[in-house]
This record gives sequence, C-alpha cells and structure tokens, in this order.
Amino acid sequence: MTDSEFYRSLLRAYIDSANDGIFVLCDEMKFHVANPLLQSWLGVSEDSLVEHGRRRPMTDFIGDAENTQLFSRNFRTVLTGQAVRFECYIHPKGAVARWIEISLSKVNLDAGNMFIGVARDITQKKESEELIWQQTNFDALTGLANRQMFRDRLEQEIKKAHRTGLPLALMVLDLDRFKEVNDTLGHDIGDLLLQEAAHRLSACIREADTVARLGGDEFTVILGELNDIDCVERIAQSILQKLTEPFQLGDQMVYISASIGITFYPEDALRSDELLKCADQAMYAAKQQGRNRRSYYAPSMQEAIQTRMRLANDLRHALNTLADKPFHLVYQPIVELASGAIHKAEALIRWQHPARGLISPAEFIPIAEETHMILDIGDWVFQDAARQLARWRQSHDAAFQISINVSPVQFHNMSDVAHWLDFLRTLDLPGQSLVVEITEGLLLDASVGVREKLQEFHQAGIAVSLDDFGTGYSSLSYLKKFSIDNLKIDQSFVRNLAPNSDDMVLCEAIIAMAHKLGMQVIAEGVETPEQRDLLAAAGCDYAQGYLFARPLRIEAFEDLLDKQAK
Ligand code: C2E
Ligand code: MG
Ligand code: MG
Repeated sequence: MTDSEFYRSLLRAYIDSANDGIFVLCDEMKFHVANPLLQSWLGVSEDSLVEHGRRRPMTDFIGDAENTQLFSRNFRTVLTGQAVRFECYIHPKGAVARWIEISLSKVNLDAGNMFIGVARDITQKKESEELIWQQTNFDALTGLANRQMFRDRLEQEIKKAHRTGLPLALMVLDLDRFKEVNDTLGHDIGDLLLQEAAHRLSACIREADTVARLGGDEFTVILGELNDIDCVERIAQSILQKLTEPFQLGDQMVYISASIGITFYPEDALRSDELLKCADQAMYAAKQQGRNRRSYYAPSMQEAIQTRMRLANDLRHALNTLADKPFHLVYQPIVELASGAIHKAEALIRWQHPARGLISPAEFIPIAEETHMILDIGDWVFQDAARQLARWRQSHDAAFQISINVSPVQFHNMSDVAHWLDFLRTLDLPGQSLVVEITEGLLLDASVGVREKLQEFHQAGIAVSLDDFGTGYSSLSYLKKFSIDNLKIDQSFVRNLAPNSDDMVLCEAIIAMAHKLGMQVIAEGVETPEQRDLLAAAGCDYAQGYLFARPLRIEAFEDLLDKQAK
C-alpha cells in the first residue's frame, strides 16, 4: 500500500465514522461525497446520489421549499469565497425531519472548486429552545398567548396600524363572579372554567387576531387591521353572549358573564401601555355599570378615575381624623302604617368634605367598599348609632330600634357578631334594639359563611332587613333559606305606585309573600299620601320616606319624637 493509498483509506474511515454529516459538493451543489450519516438523514443511499449518470444536487433532498431556498442562498455566498454557517430544517422523503447546522466553505483544488460541508444535528437544542419559547410566550393553563407575547403582538399591530392607516381595537375582558366560583367550587373547577372561557373567546375572533390571558381571569383581544369598525361591536356582543351560556364543568353547571373594555388605536392612545390603561378603565366602567356588558373608552373615564382616587385619599384622611367629626349620622323615621307611630329609624351616614361640602353615601360608599375602608366606617357607624340608640331609649322610647346598613364587604369581613354584642352590652342594649340592613347581592353568594352569620345575628336577637328588595336578582327561593326578618321594598316600585298599575301588583305580591314567610314589610321612598294609602291598603307594615320626614339630624329627630309623645 502506497502512502497515498493509506491516507485515502484512513480519511475514508474517518469520514464514514464521524458523528457529523460530512459532505463534499462540486459545482451547482452536486454531491461528490456524502458520508453514511448524512445519507441516512437525507433518506438516500450512495447509489441514489447519482441519477442517470448525473450527480444530484443537495437541494434535491432537503424536502422543505423555504429551506431549499435558504441553502441555495448560502451556497451563492460560498461561491464568492466566504465560508458560511447556518441552521437548516430538513424534511426529506423517507427520513425524519430534523434541524441541522451546516458549515460550508470553498476549497480550490487542481481539479476545480470543491465545497466542503459539515452538518450537525441540532434538533434537540431546537426543541428545548422551542419549549422555552412556548413557556415564555404562552399561558400553560389555557394555551393562549401570555402577557409577554401579548405585549409583542400589540407592538407589532401598532406598527402595522401606523403603516397601513387602518385602526386597531384592544379589548380587555374580565370574568364577572369568577372569584366566587373559584372560592366556592374550588380551584380545579376554576381552572376548567378559565380553559373553557378561553376556548369560547378564541372561537369568537378572526384567524389573525390575538387572544391572550394576562393573568387571573383577565383576558385581552387584539383586533388589528380594521377595515370595518362595526365588527368590533359584533365581536364584543358575540363574546358576551357566548360567555353567558352555561358552563358544564364536571358535574357542576356554572353561570358567569364578562365585562369588556374597548379602546382604539390611534384614536384613544398611541402607546401600547396607554392603550392597555384605556381598555382597563373602560372595562372598569363596564363593571360599574352592572357587568355583563361592554364599554368603550372615553376621556371622561380618566377624569372619573382621578376624582375617585382623590376622594379615596380624602376618605382615608377623614378616617384618620375621626376626632374632627368628618362623619355624622342622620336618622330617618320608619313609620308604622296602621298607627302612624314611630318606634324605629334608619341611620344613614353623611360625610362633610372640607372642600366639597356634604357628599352622598351613594358616591363614597362604593369607594369605601373597594378600598375596604368600609370596615372602619362600618364600625364607626355601628358604635355611633348604638350610643345614640342608648340615649333615645333612655330619654324617649324604651323600645326604640335603629337599623344600620351593612355593606357586603363589611359583612364578609366581620369575624363574628360577638364583639358587636359585647359593645351593645356595655351600653345595656339588647340585640333586639338593633336591625341590620343587607342587600340581595349578599345572598346570591350562596356561601355557607353568609348563612351562618345571618344565623348568628338571628340568635343574638338582631333582626335582619333585606334592603332595596326587587332591584337585585330577586330569587325568591333564598328568602326561605336565610334568616330574614323584614323586606324593604325598593323605592323604584313605590315611585310610580297607582291603583291597578304593574308596580301595585308587584307590591301586593311582595307583601303577601313576605307575610306568608313570616316577614314584615317596609316600603321605602314614600313621598305622597296616595302612595302611603295604597301601601297601607295592601297590608304593608311600615313605610319610610320624605312624606313622613327626610333623614334628620339628632335635634330634629328628637323634636319629632317629642311631638309624638304629646
Ligand atoms: P338605603 O339604605 O336604601 O337608604 C335609603 C336612601 O333613600 C337614603 O339615601 C335616603 O335618604 C333615601 N330616601 C329616603 N326617603 C326617600 C324618599 O322619599 N325619596 C327619595 N328619593 N329618597 C329617599 P342616602 O342617605 O343618600 O343613602 C344612600 C345609600 O347609601 C343607602 O341606601 C345605603 O345603601 C347607603 N348607605 C347610607 N348610609 C350607610 C352606612 O352607614 N353604611 C353603609 N354601608 N351604607 C350606607
Ligand atoms: Mg338601608
Ligand atoms: Mg334601600
């Protein structure tokens, strides 16, 4: 064996046993050499590299149009003498698809130009990169884009909208009552609900649009390249409709709805973070307006939110300076219709704002609830009312009763009724002297806690009134389930009371039903003698309203009690 023969066979053995694909191409990318490993990757044998006596080009075997082009482009670069390295996806006939990294360079030999290549299998690296990409960009629970991906897409869509001049819409969507489902039915059901909601959402939008889950029960939809603005409203309505359909989750049937905020680029904002803020504010407005609806962003929302924030700050300040008496209670008599006698009153809070004057509880109670300041406010109301109650029981009426409003947030956060009873005891007041007013929404919660706490009030002798009855979800079945003593018919039914009117029929029905269930009825907002007479004729027990008296300061209320005593 000559030296040259020896080296040739050594080289051959080396090439054949290499862990990389090794190949040599001649002109026009044609195979001169391909080692067995590369042949197996390309699904070919030594023989098939030659067809009708002609060598075949490597591009014949790549099996993926885009990557075939990529290869040709790189080959053209190599022709200029520059070495290249690139990643190429191959999917040859008869072989598995894989990612390879190709290094290719040109050598000048006596016989002409040759191109020496090494191909390395990088499929595993690519797959783990892909997995990491999935994990950083997609939500594991729902498979939707996550916040990160959403940001990228929104940026892209904004650029596109800028280029094309076509607007884009951004929706932020929050599931109503999701927390309740999660808390009462458990996180597994909560997860199922999110998955199914994500599925329904995706079905409502166009192929090119993005749905993302930002976290919790908050989703977002990007609708780009809007040729037809009206489609935004159509999509919003179809989402609302799809989400109110019942969810069958395991053996549970669950009902929810959604609140959607919508904003447009470039109309409302130019930057992605600002757009998201606008959509959030609009979503918040949809929630405020009663949920299960969509709301479009308006600049006034910004103002409203600022006003709220300022008011929240002022409210905190008021709570920190209770000694300055920023709050006071007014008392509205609750009149017994049969006799006209007054032995009860409802305590209503008033806030004297240093700059804005008197602020209505309708304005600041929702803020207090959101910020949980209602807990401190509620305690103050309870104690102040109880002290007044003790005084009036002494001075005017030993059987006097005061009712106070307890907000749902306050109710849920009350650890127990015992510390209230302790306070009443220090004032020598029995539980029977106090009435608690709650709203229908609280009973909808269906949690065991609510029923138990109502039971505690009941056992302590504290009566419970259901306030604003008829305005909420008004499911009659819960009235029986809970310990409720009185129904307060909401003023919206009393306002238009006339003989034979629908409202008259409703009031009569409510009264009859309440009496059957052993409850007493109080009509709210009675402003005219006609309303009073109609209610009395229908058997209503008590009434409250401007006809008898507005909510009164202590002195004025005492005048009323004095007059009654005469
Ligand atoms: P509410 O408990 O249903 O109280 C009745 C509301 O109707 C009171 O409004 C009262 O002033 C008003 N009203 C009484 N009679 C008439 C009438 O003949 N015509 C009309 N148009 N209105 C009448 P106010 O005092 O502004 O309170 C509004 C709501 O704020 C209350 O509704 C209650 O939900 C809440 N609120 C008031 N004080 C407190 C409190 O101390 N704690 C909590 N959590 N909520 C309170
Ligand atoms: Mg009330
Ligand atoms: Mg009411």
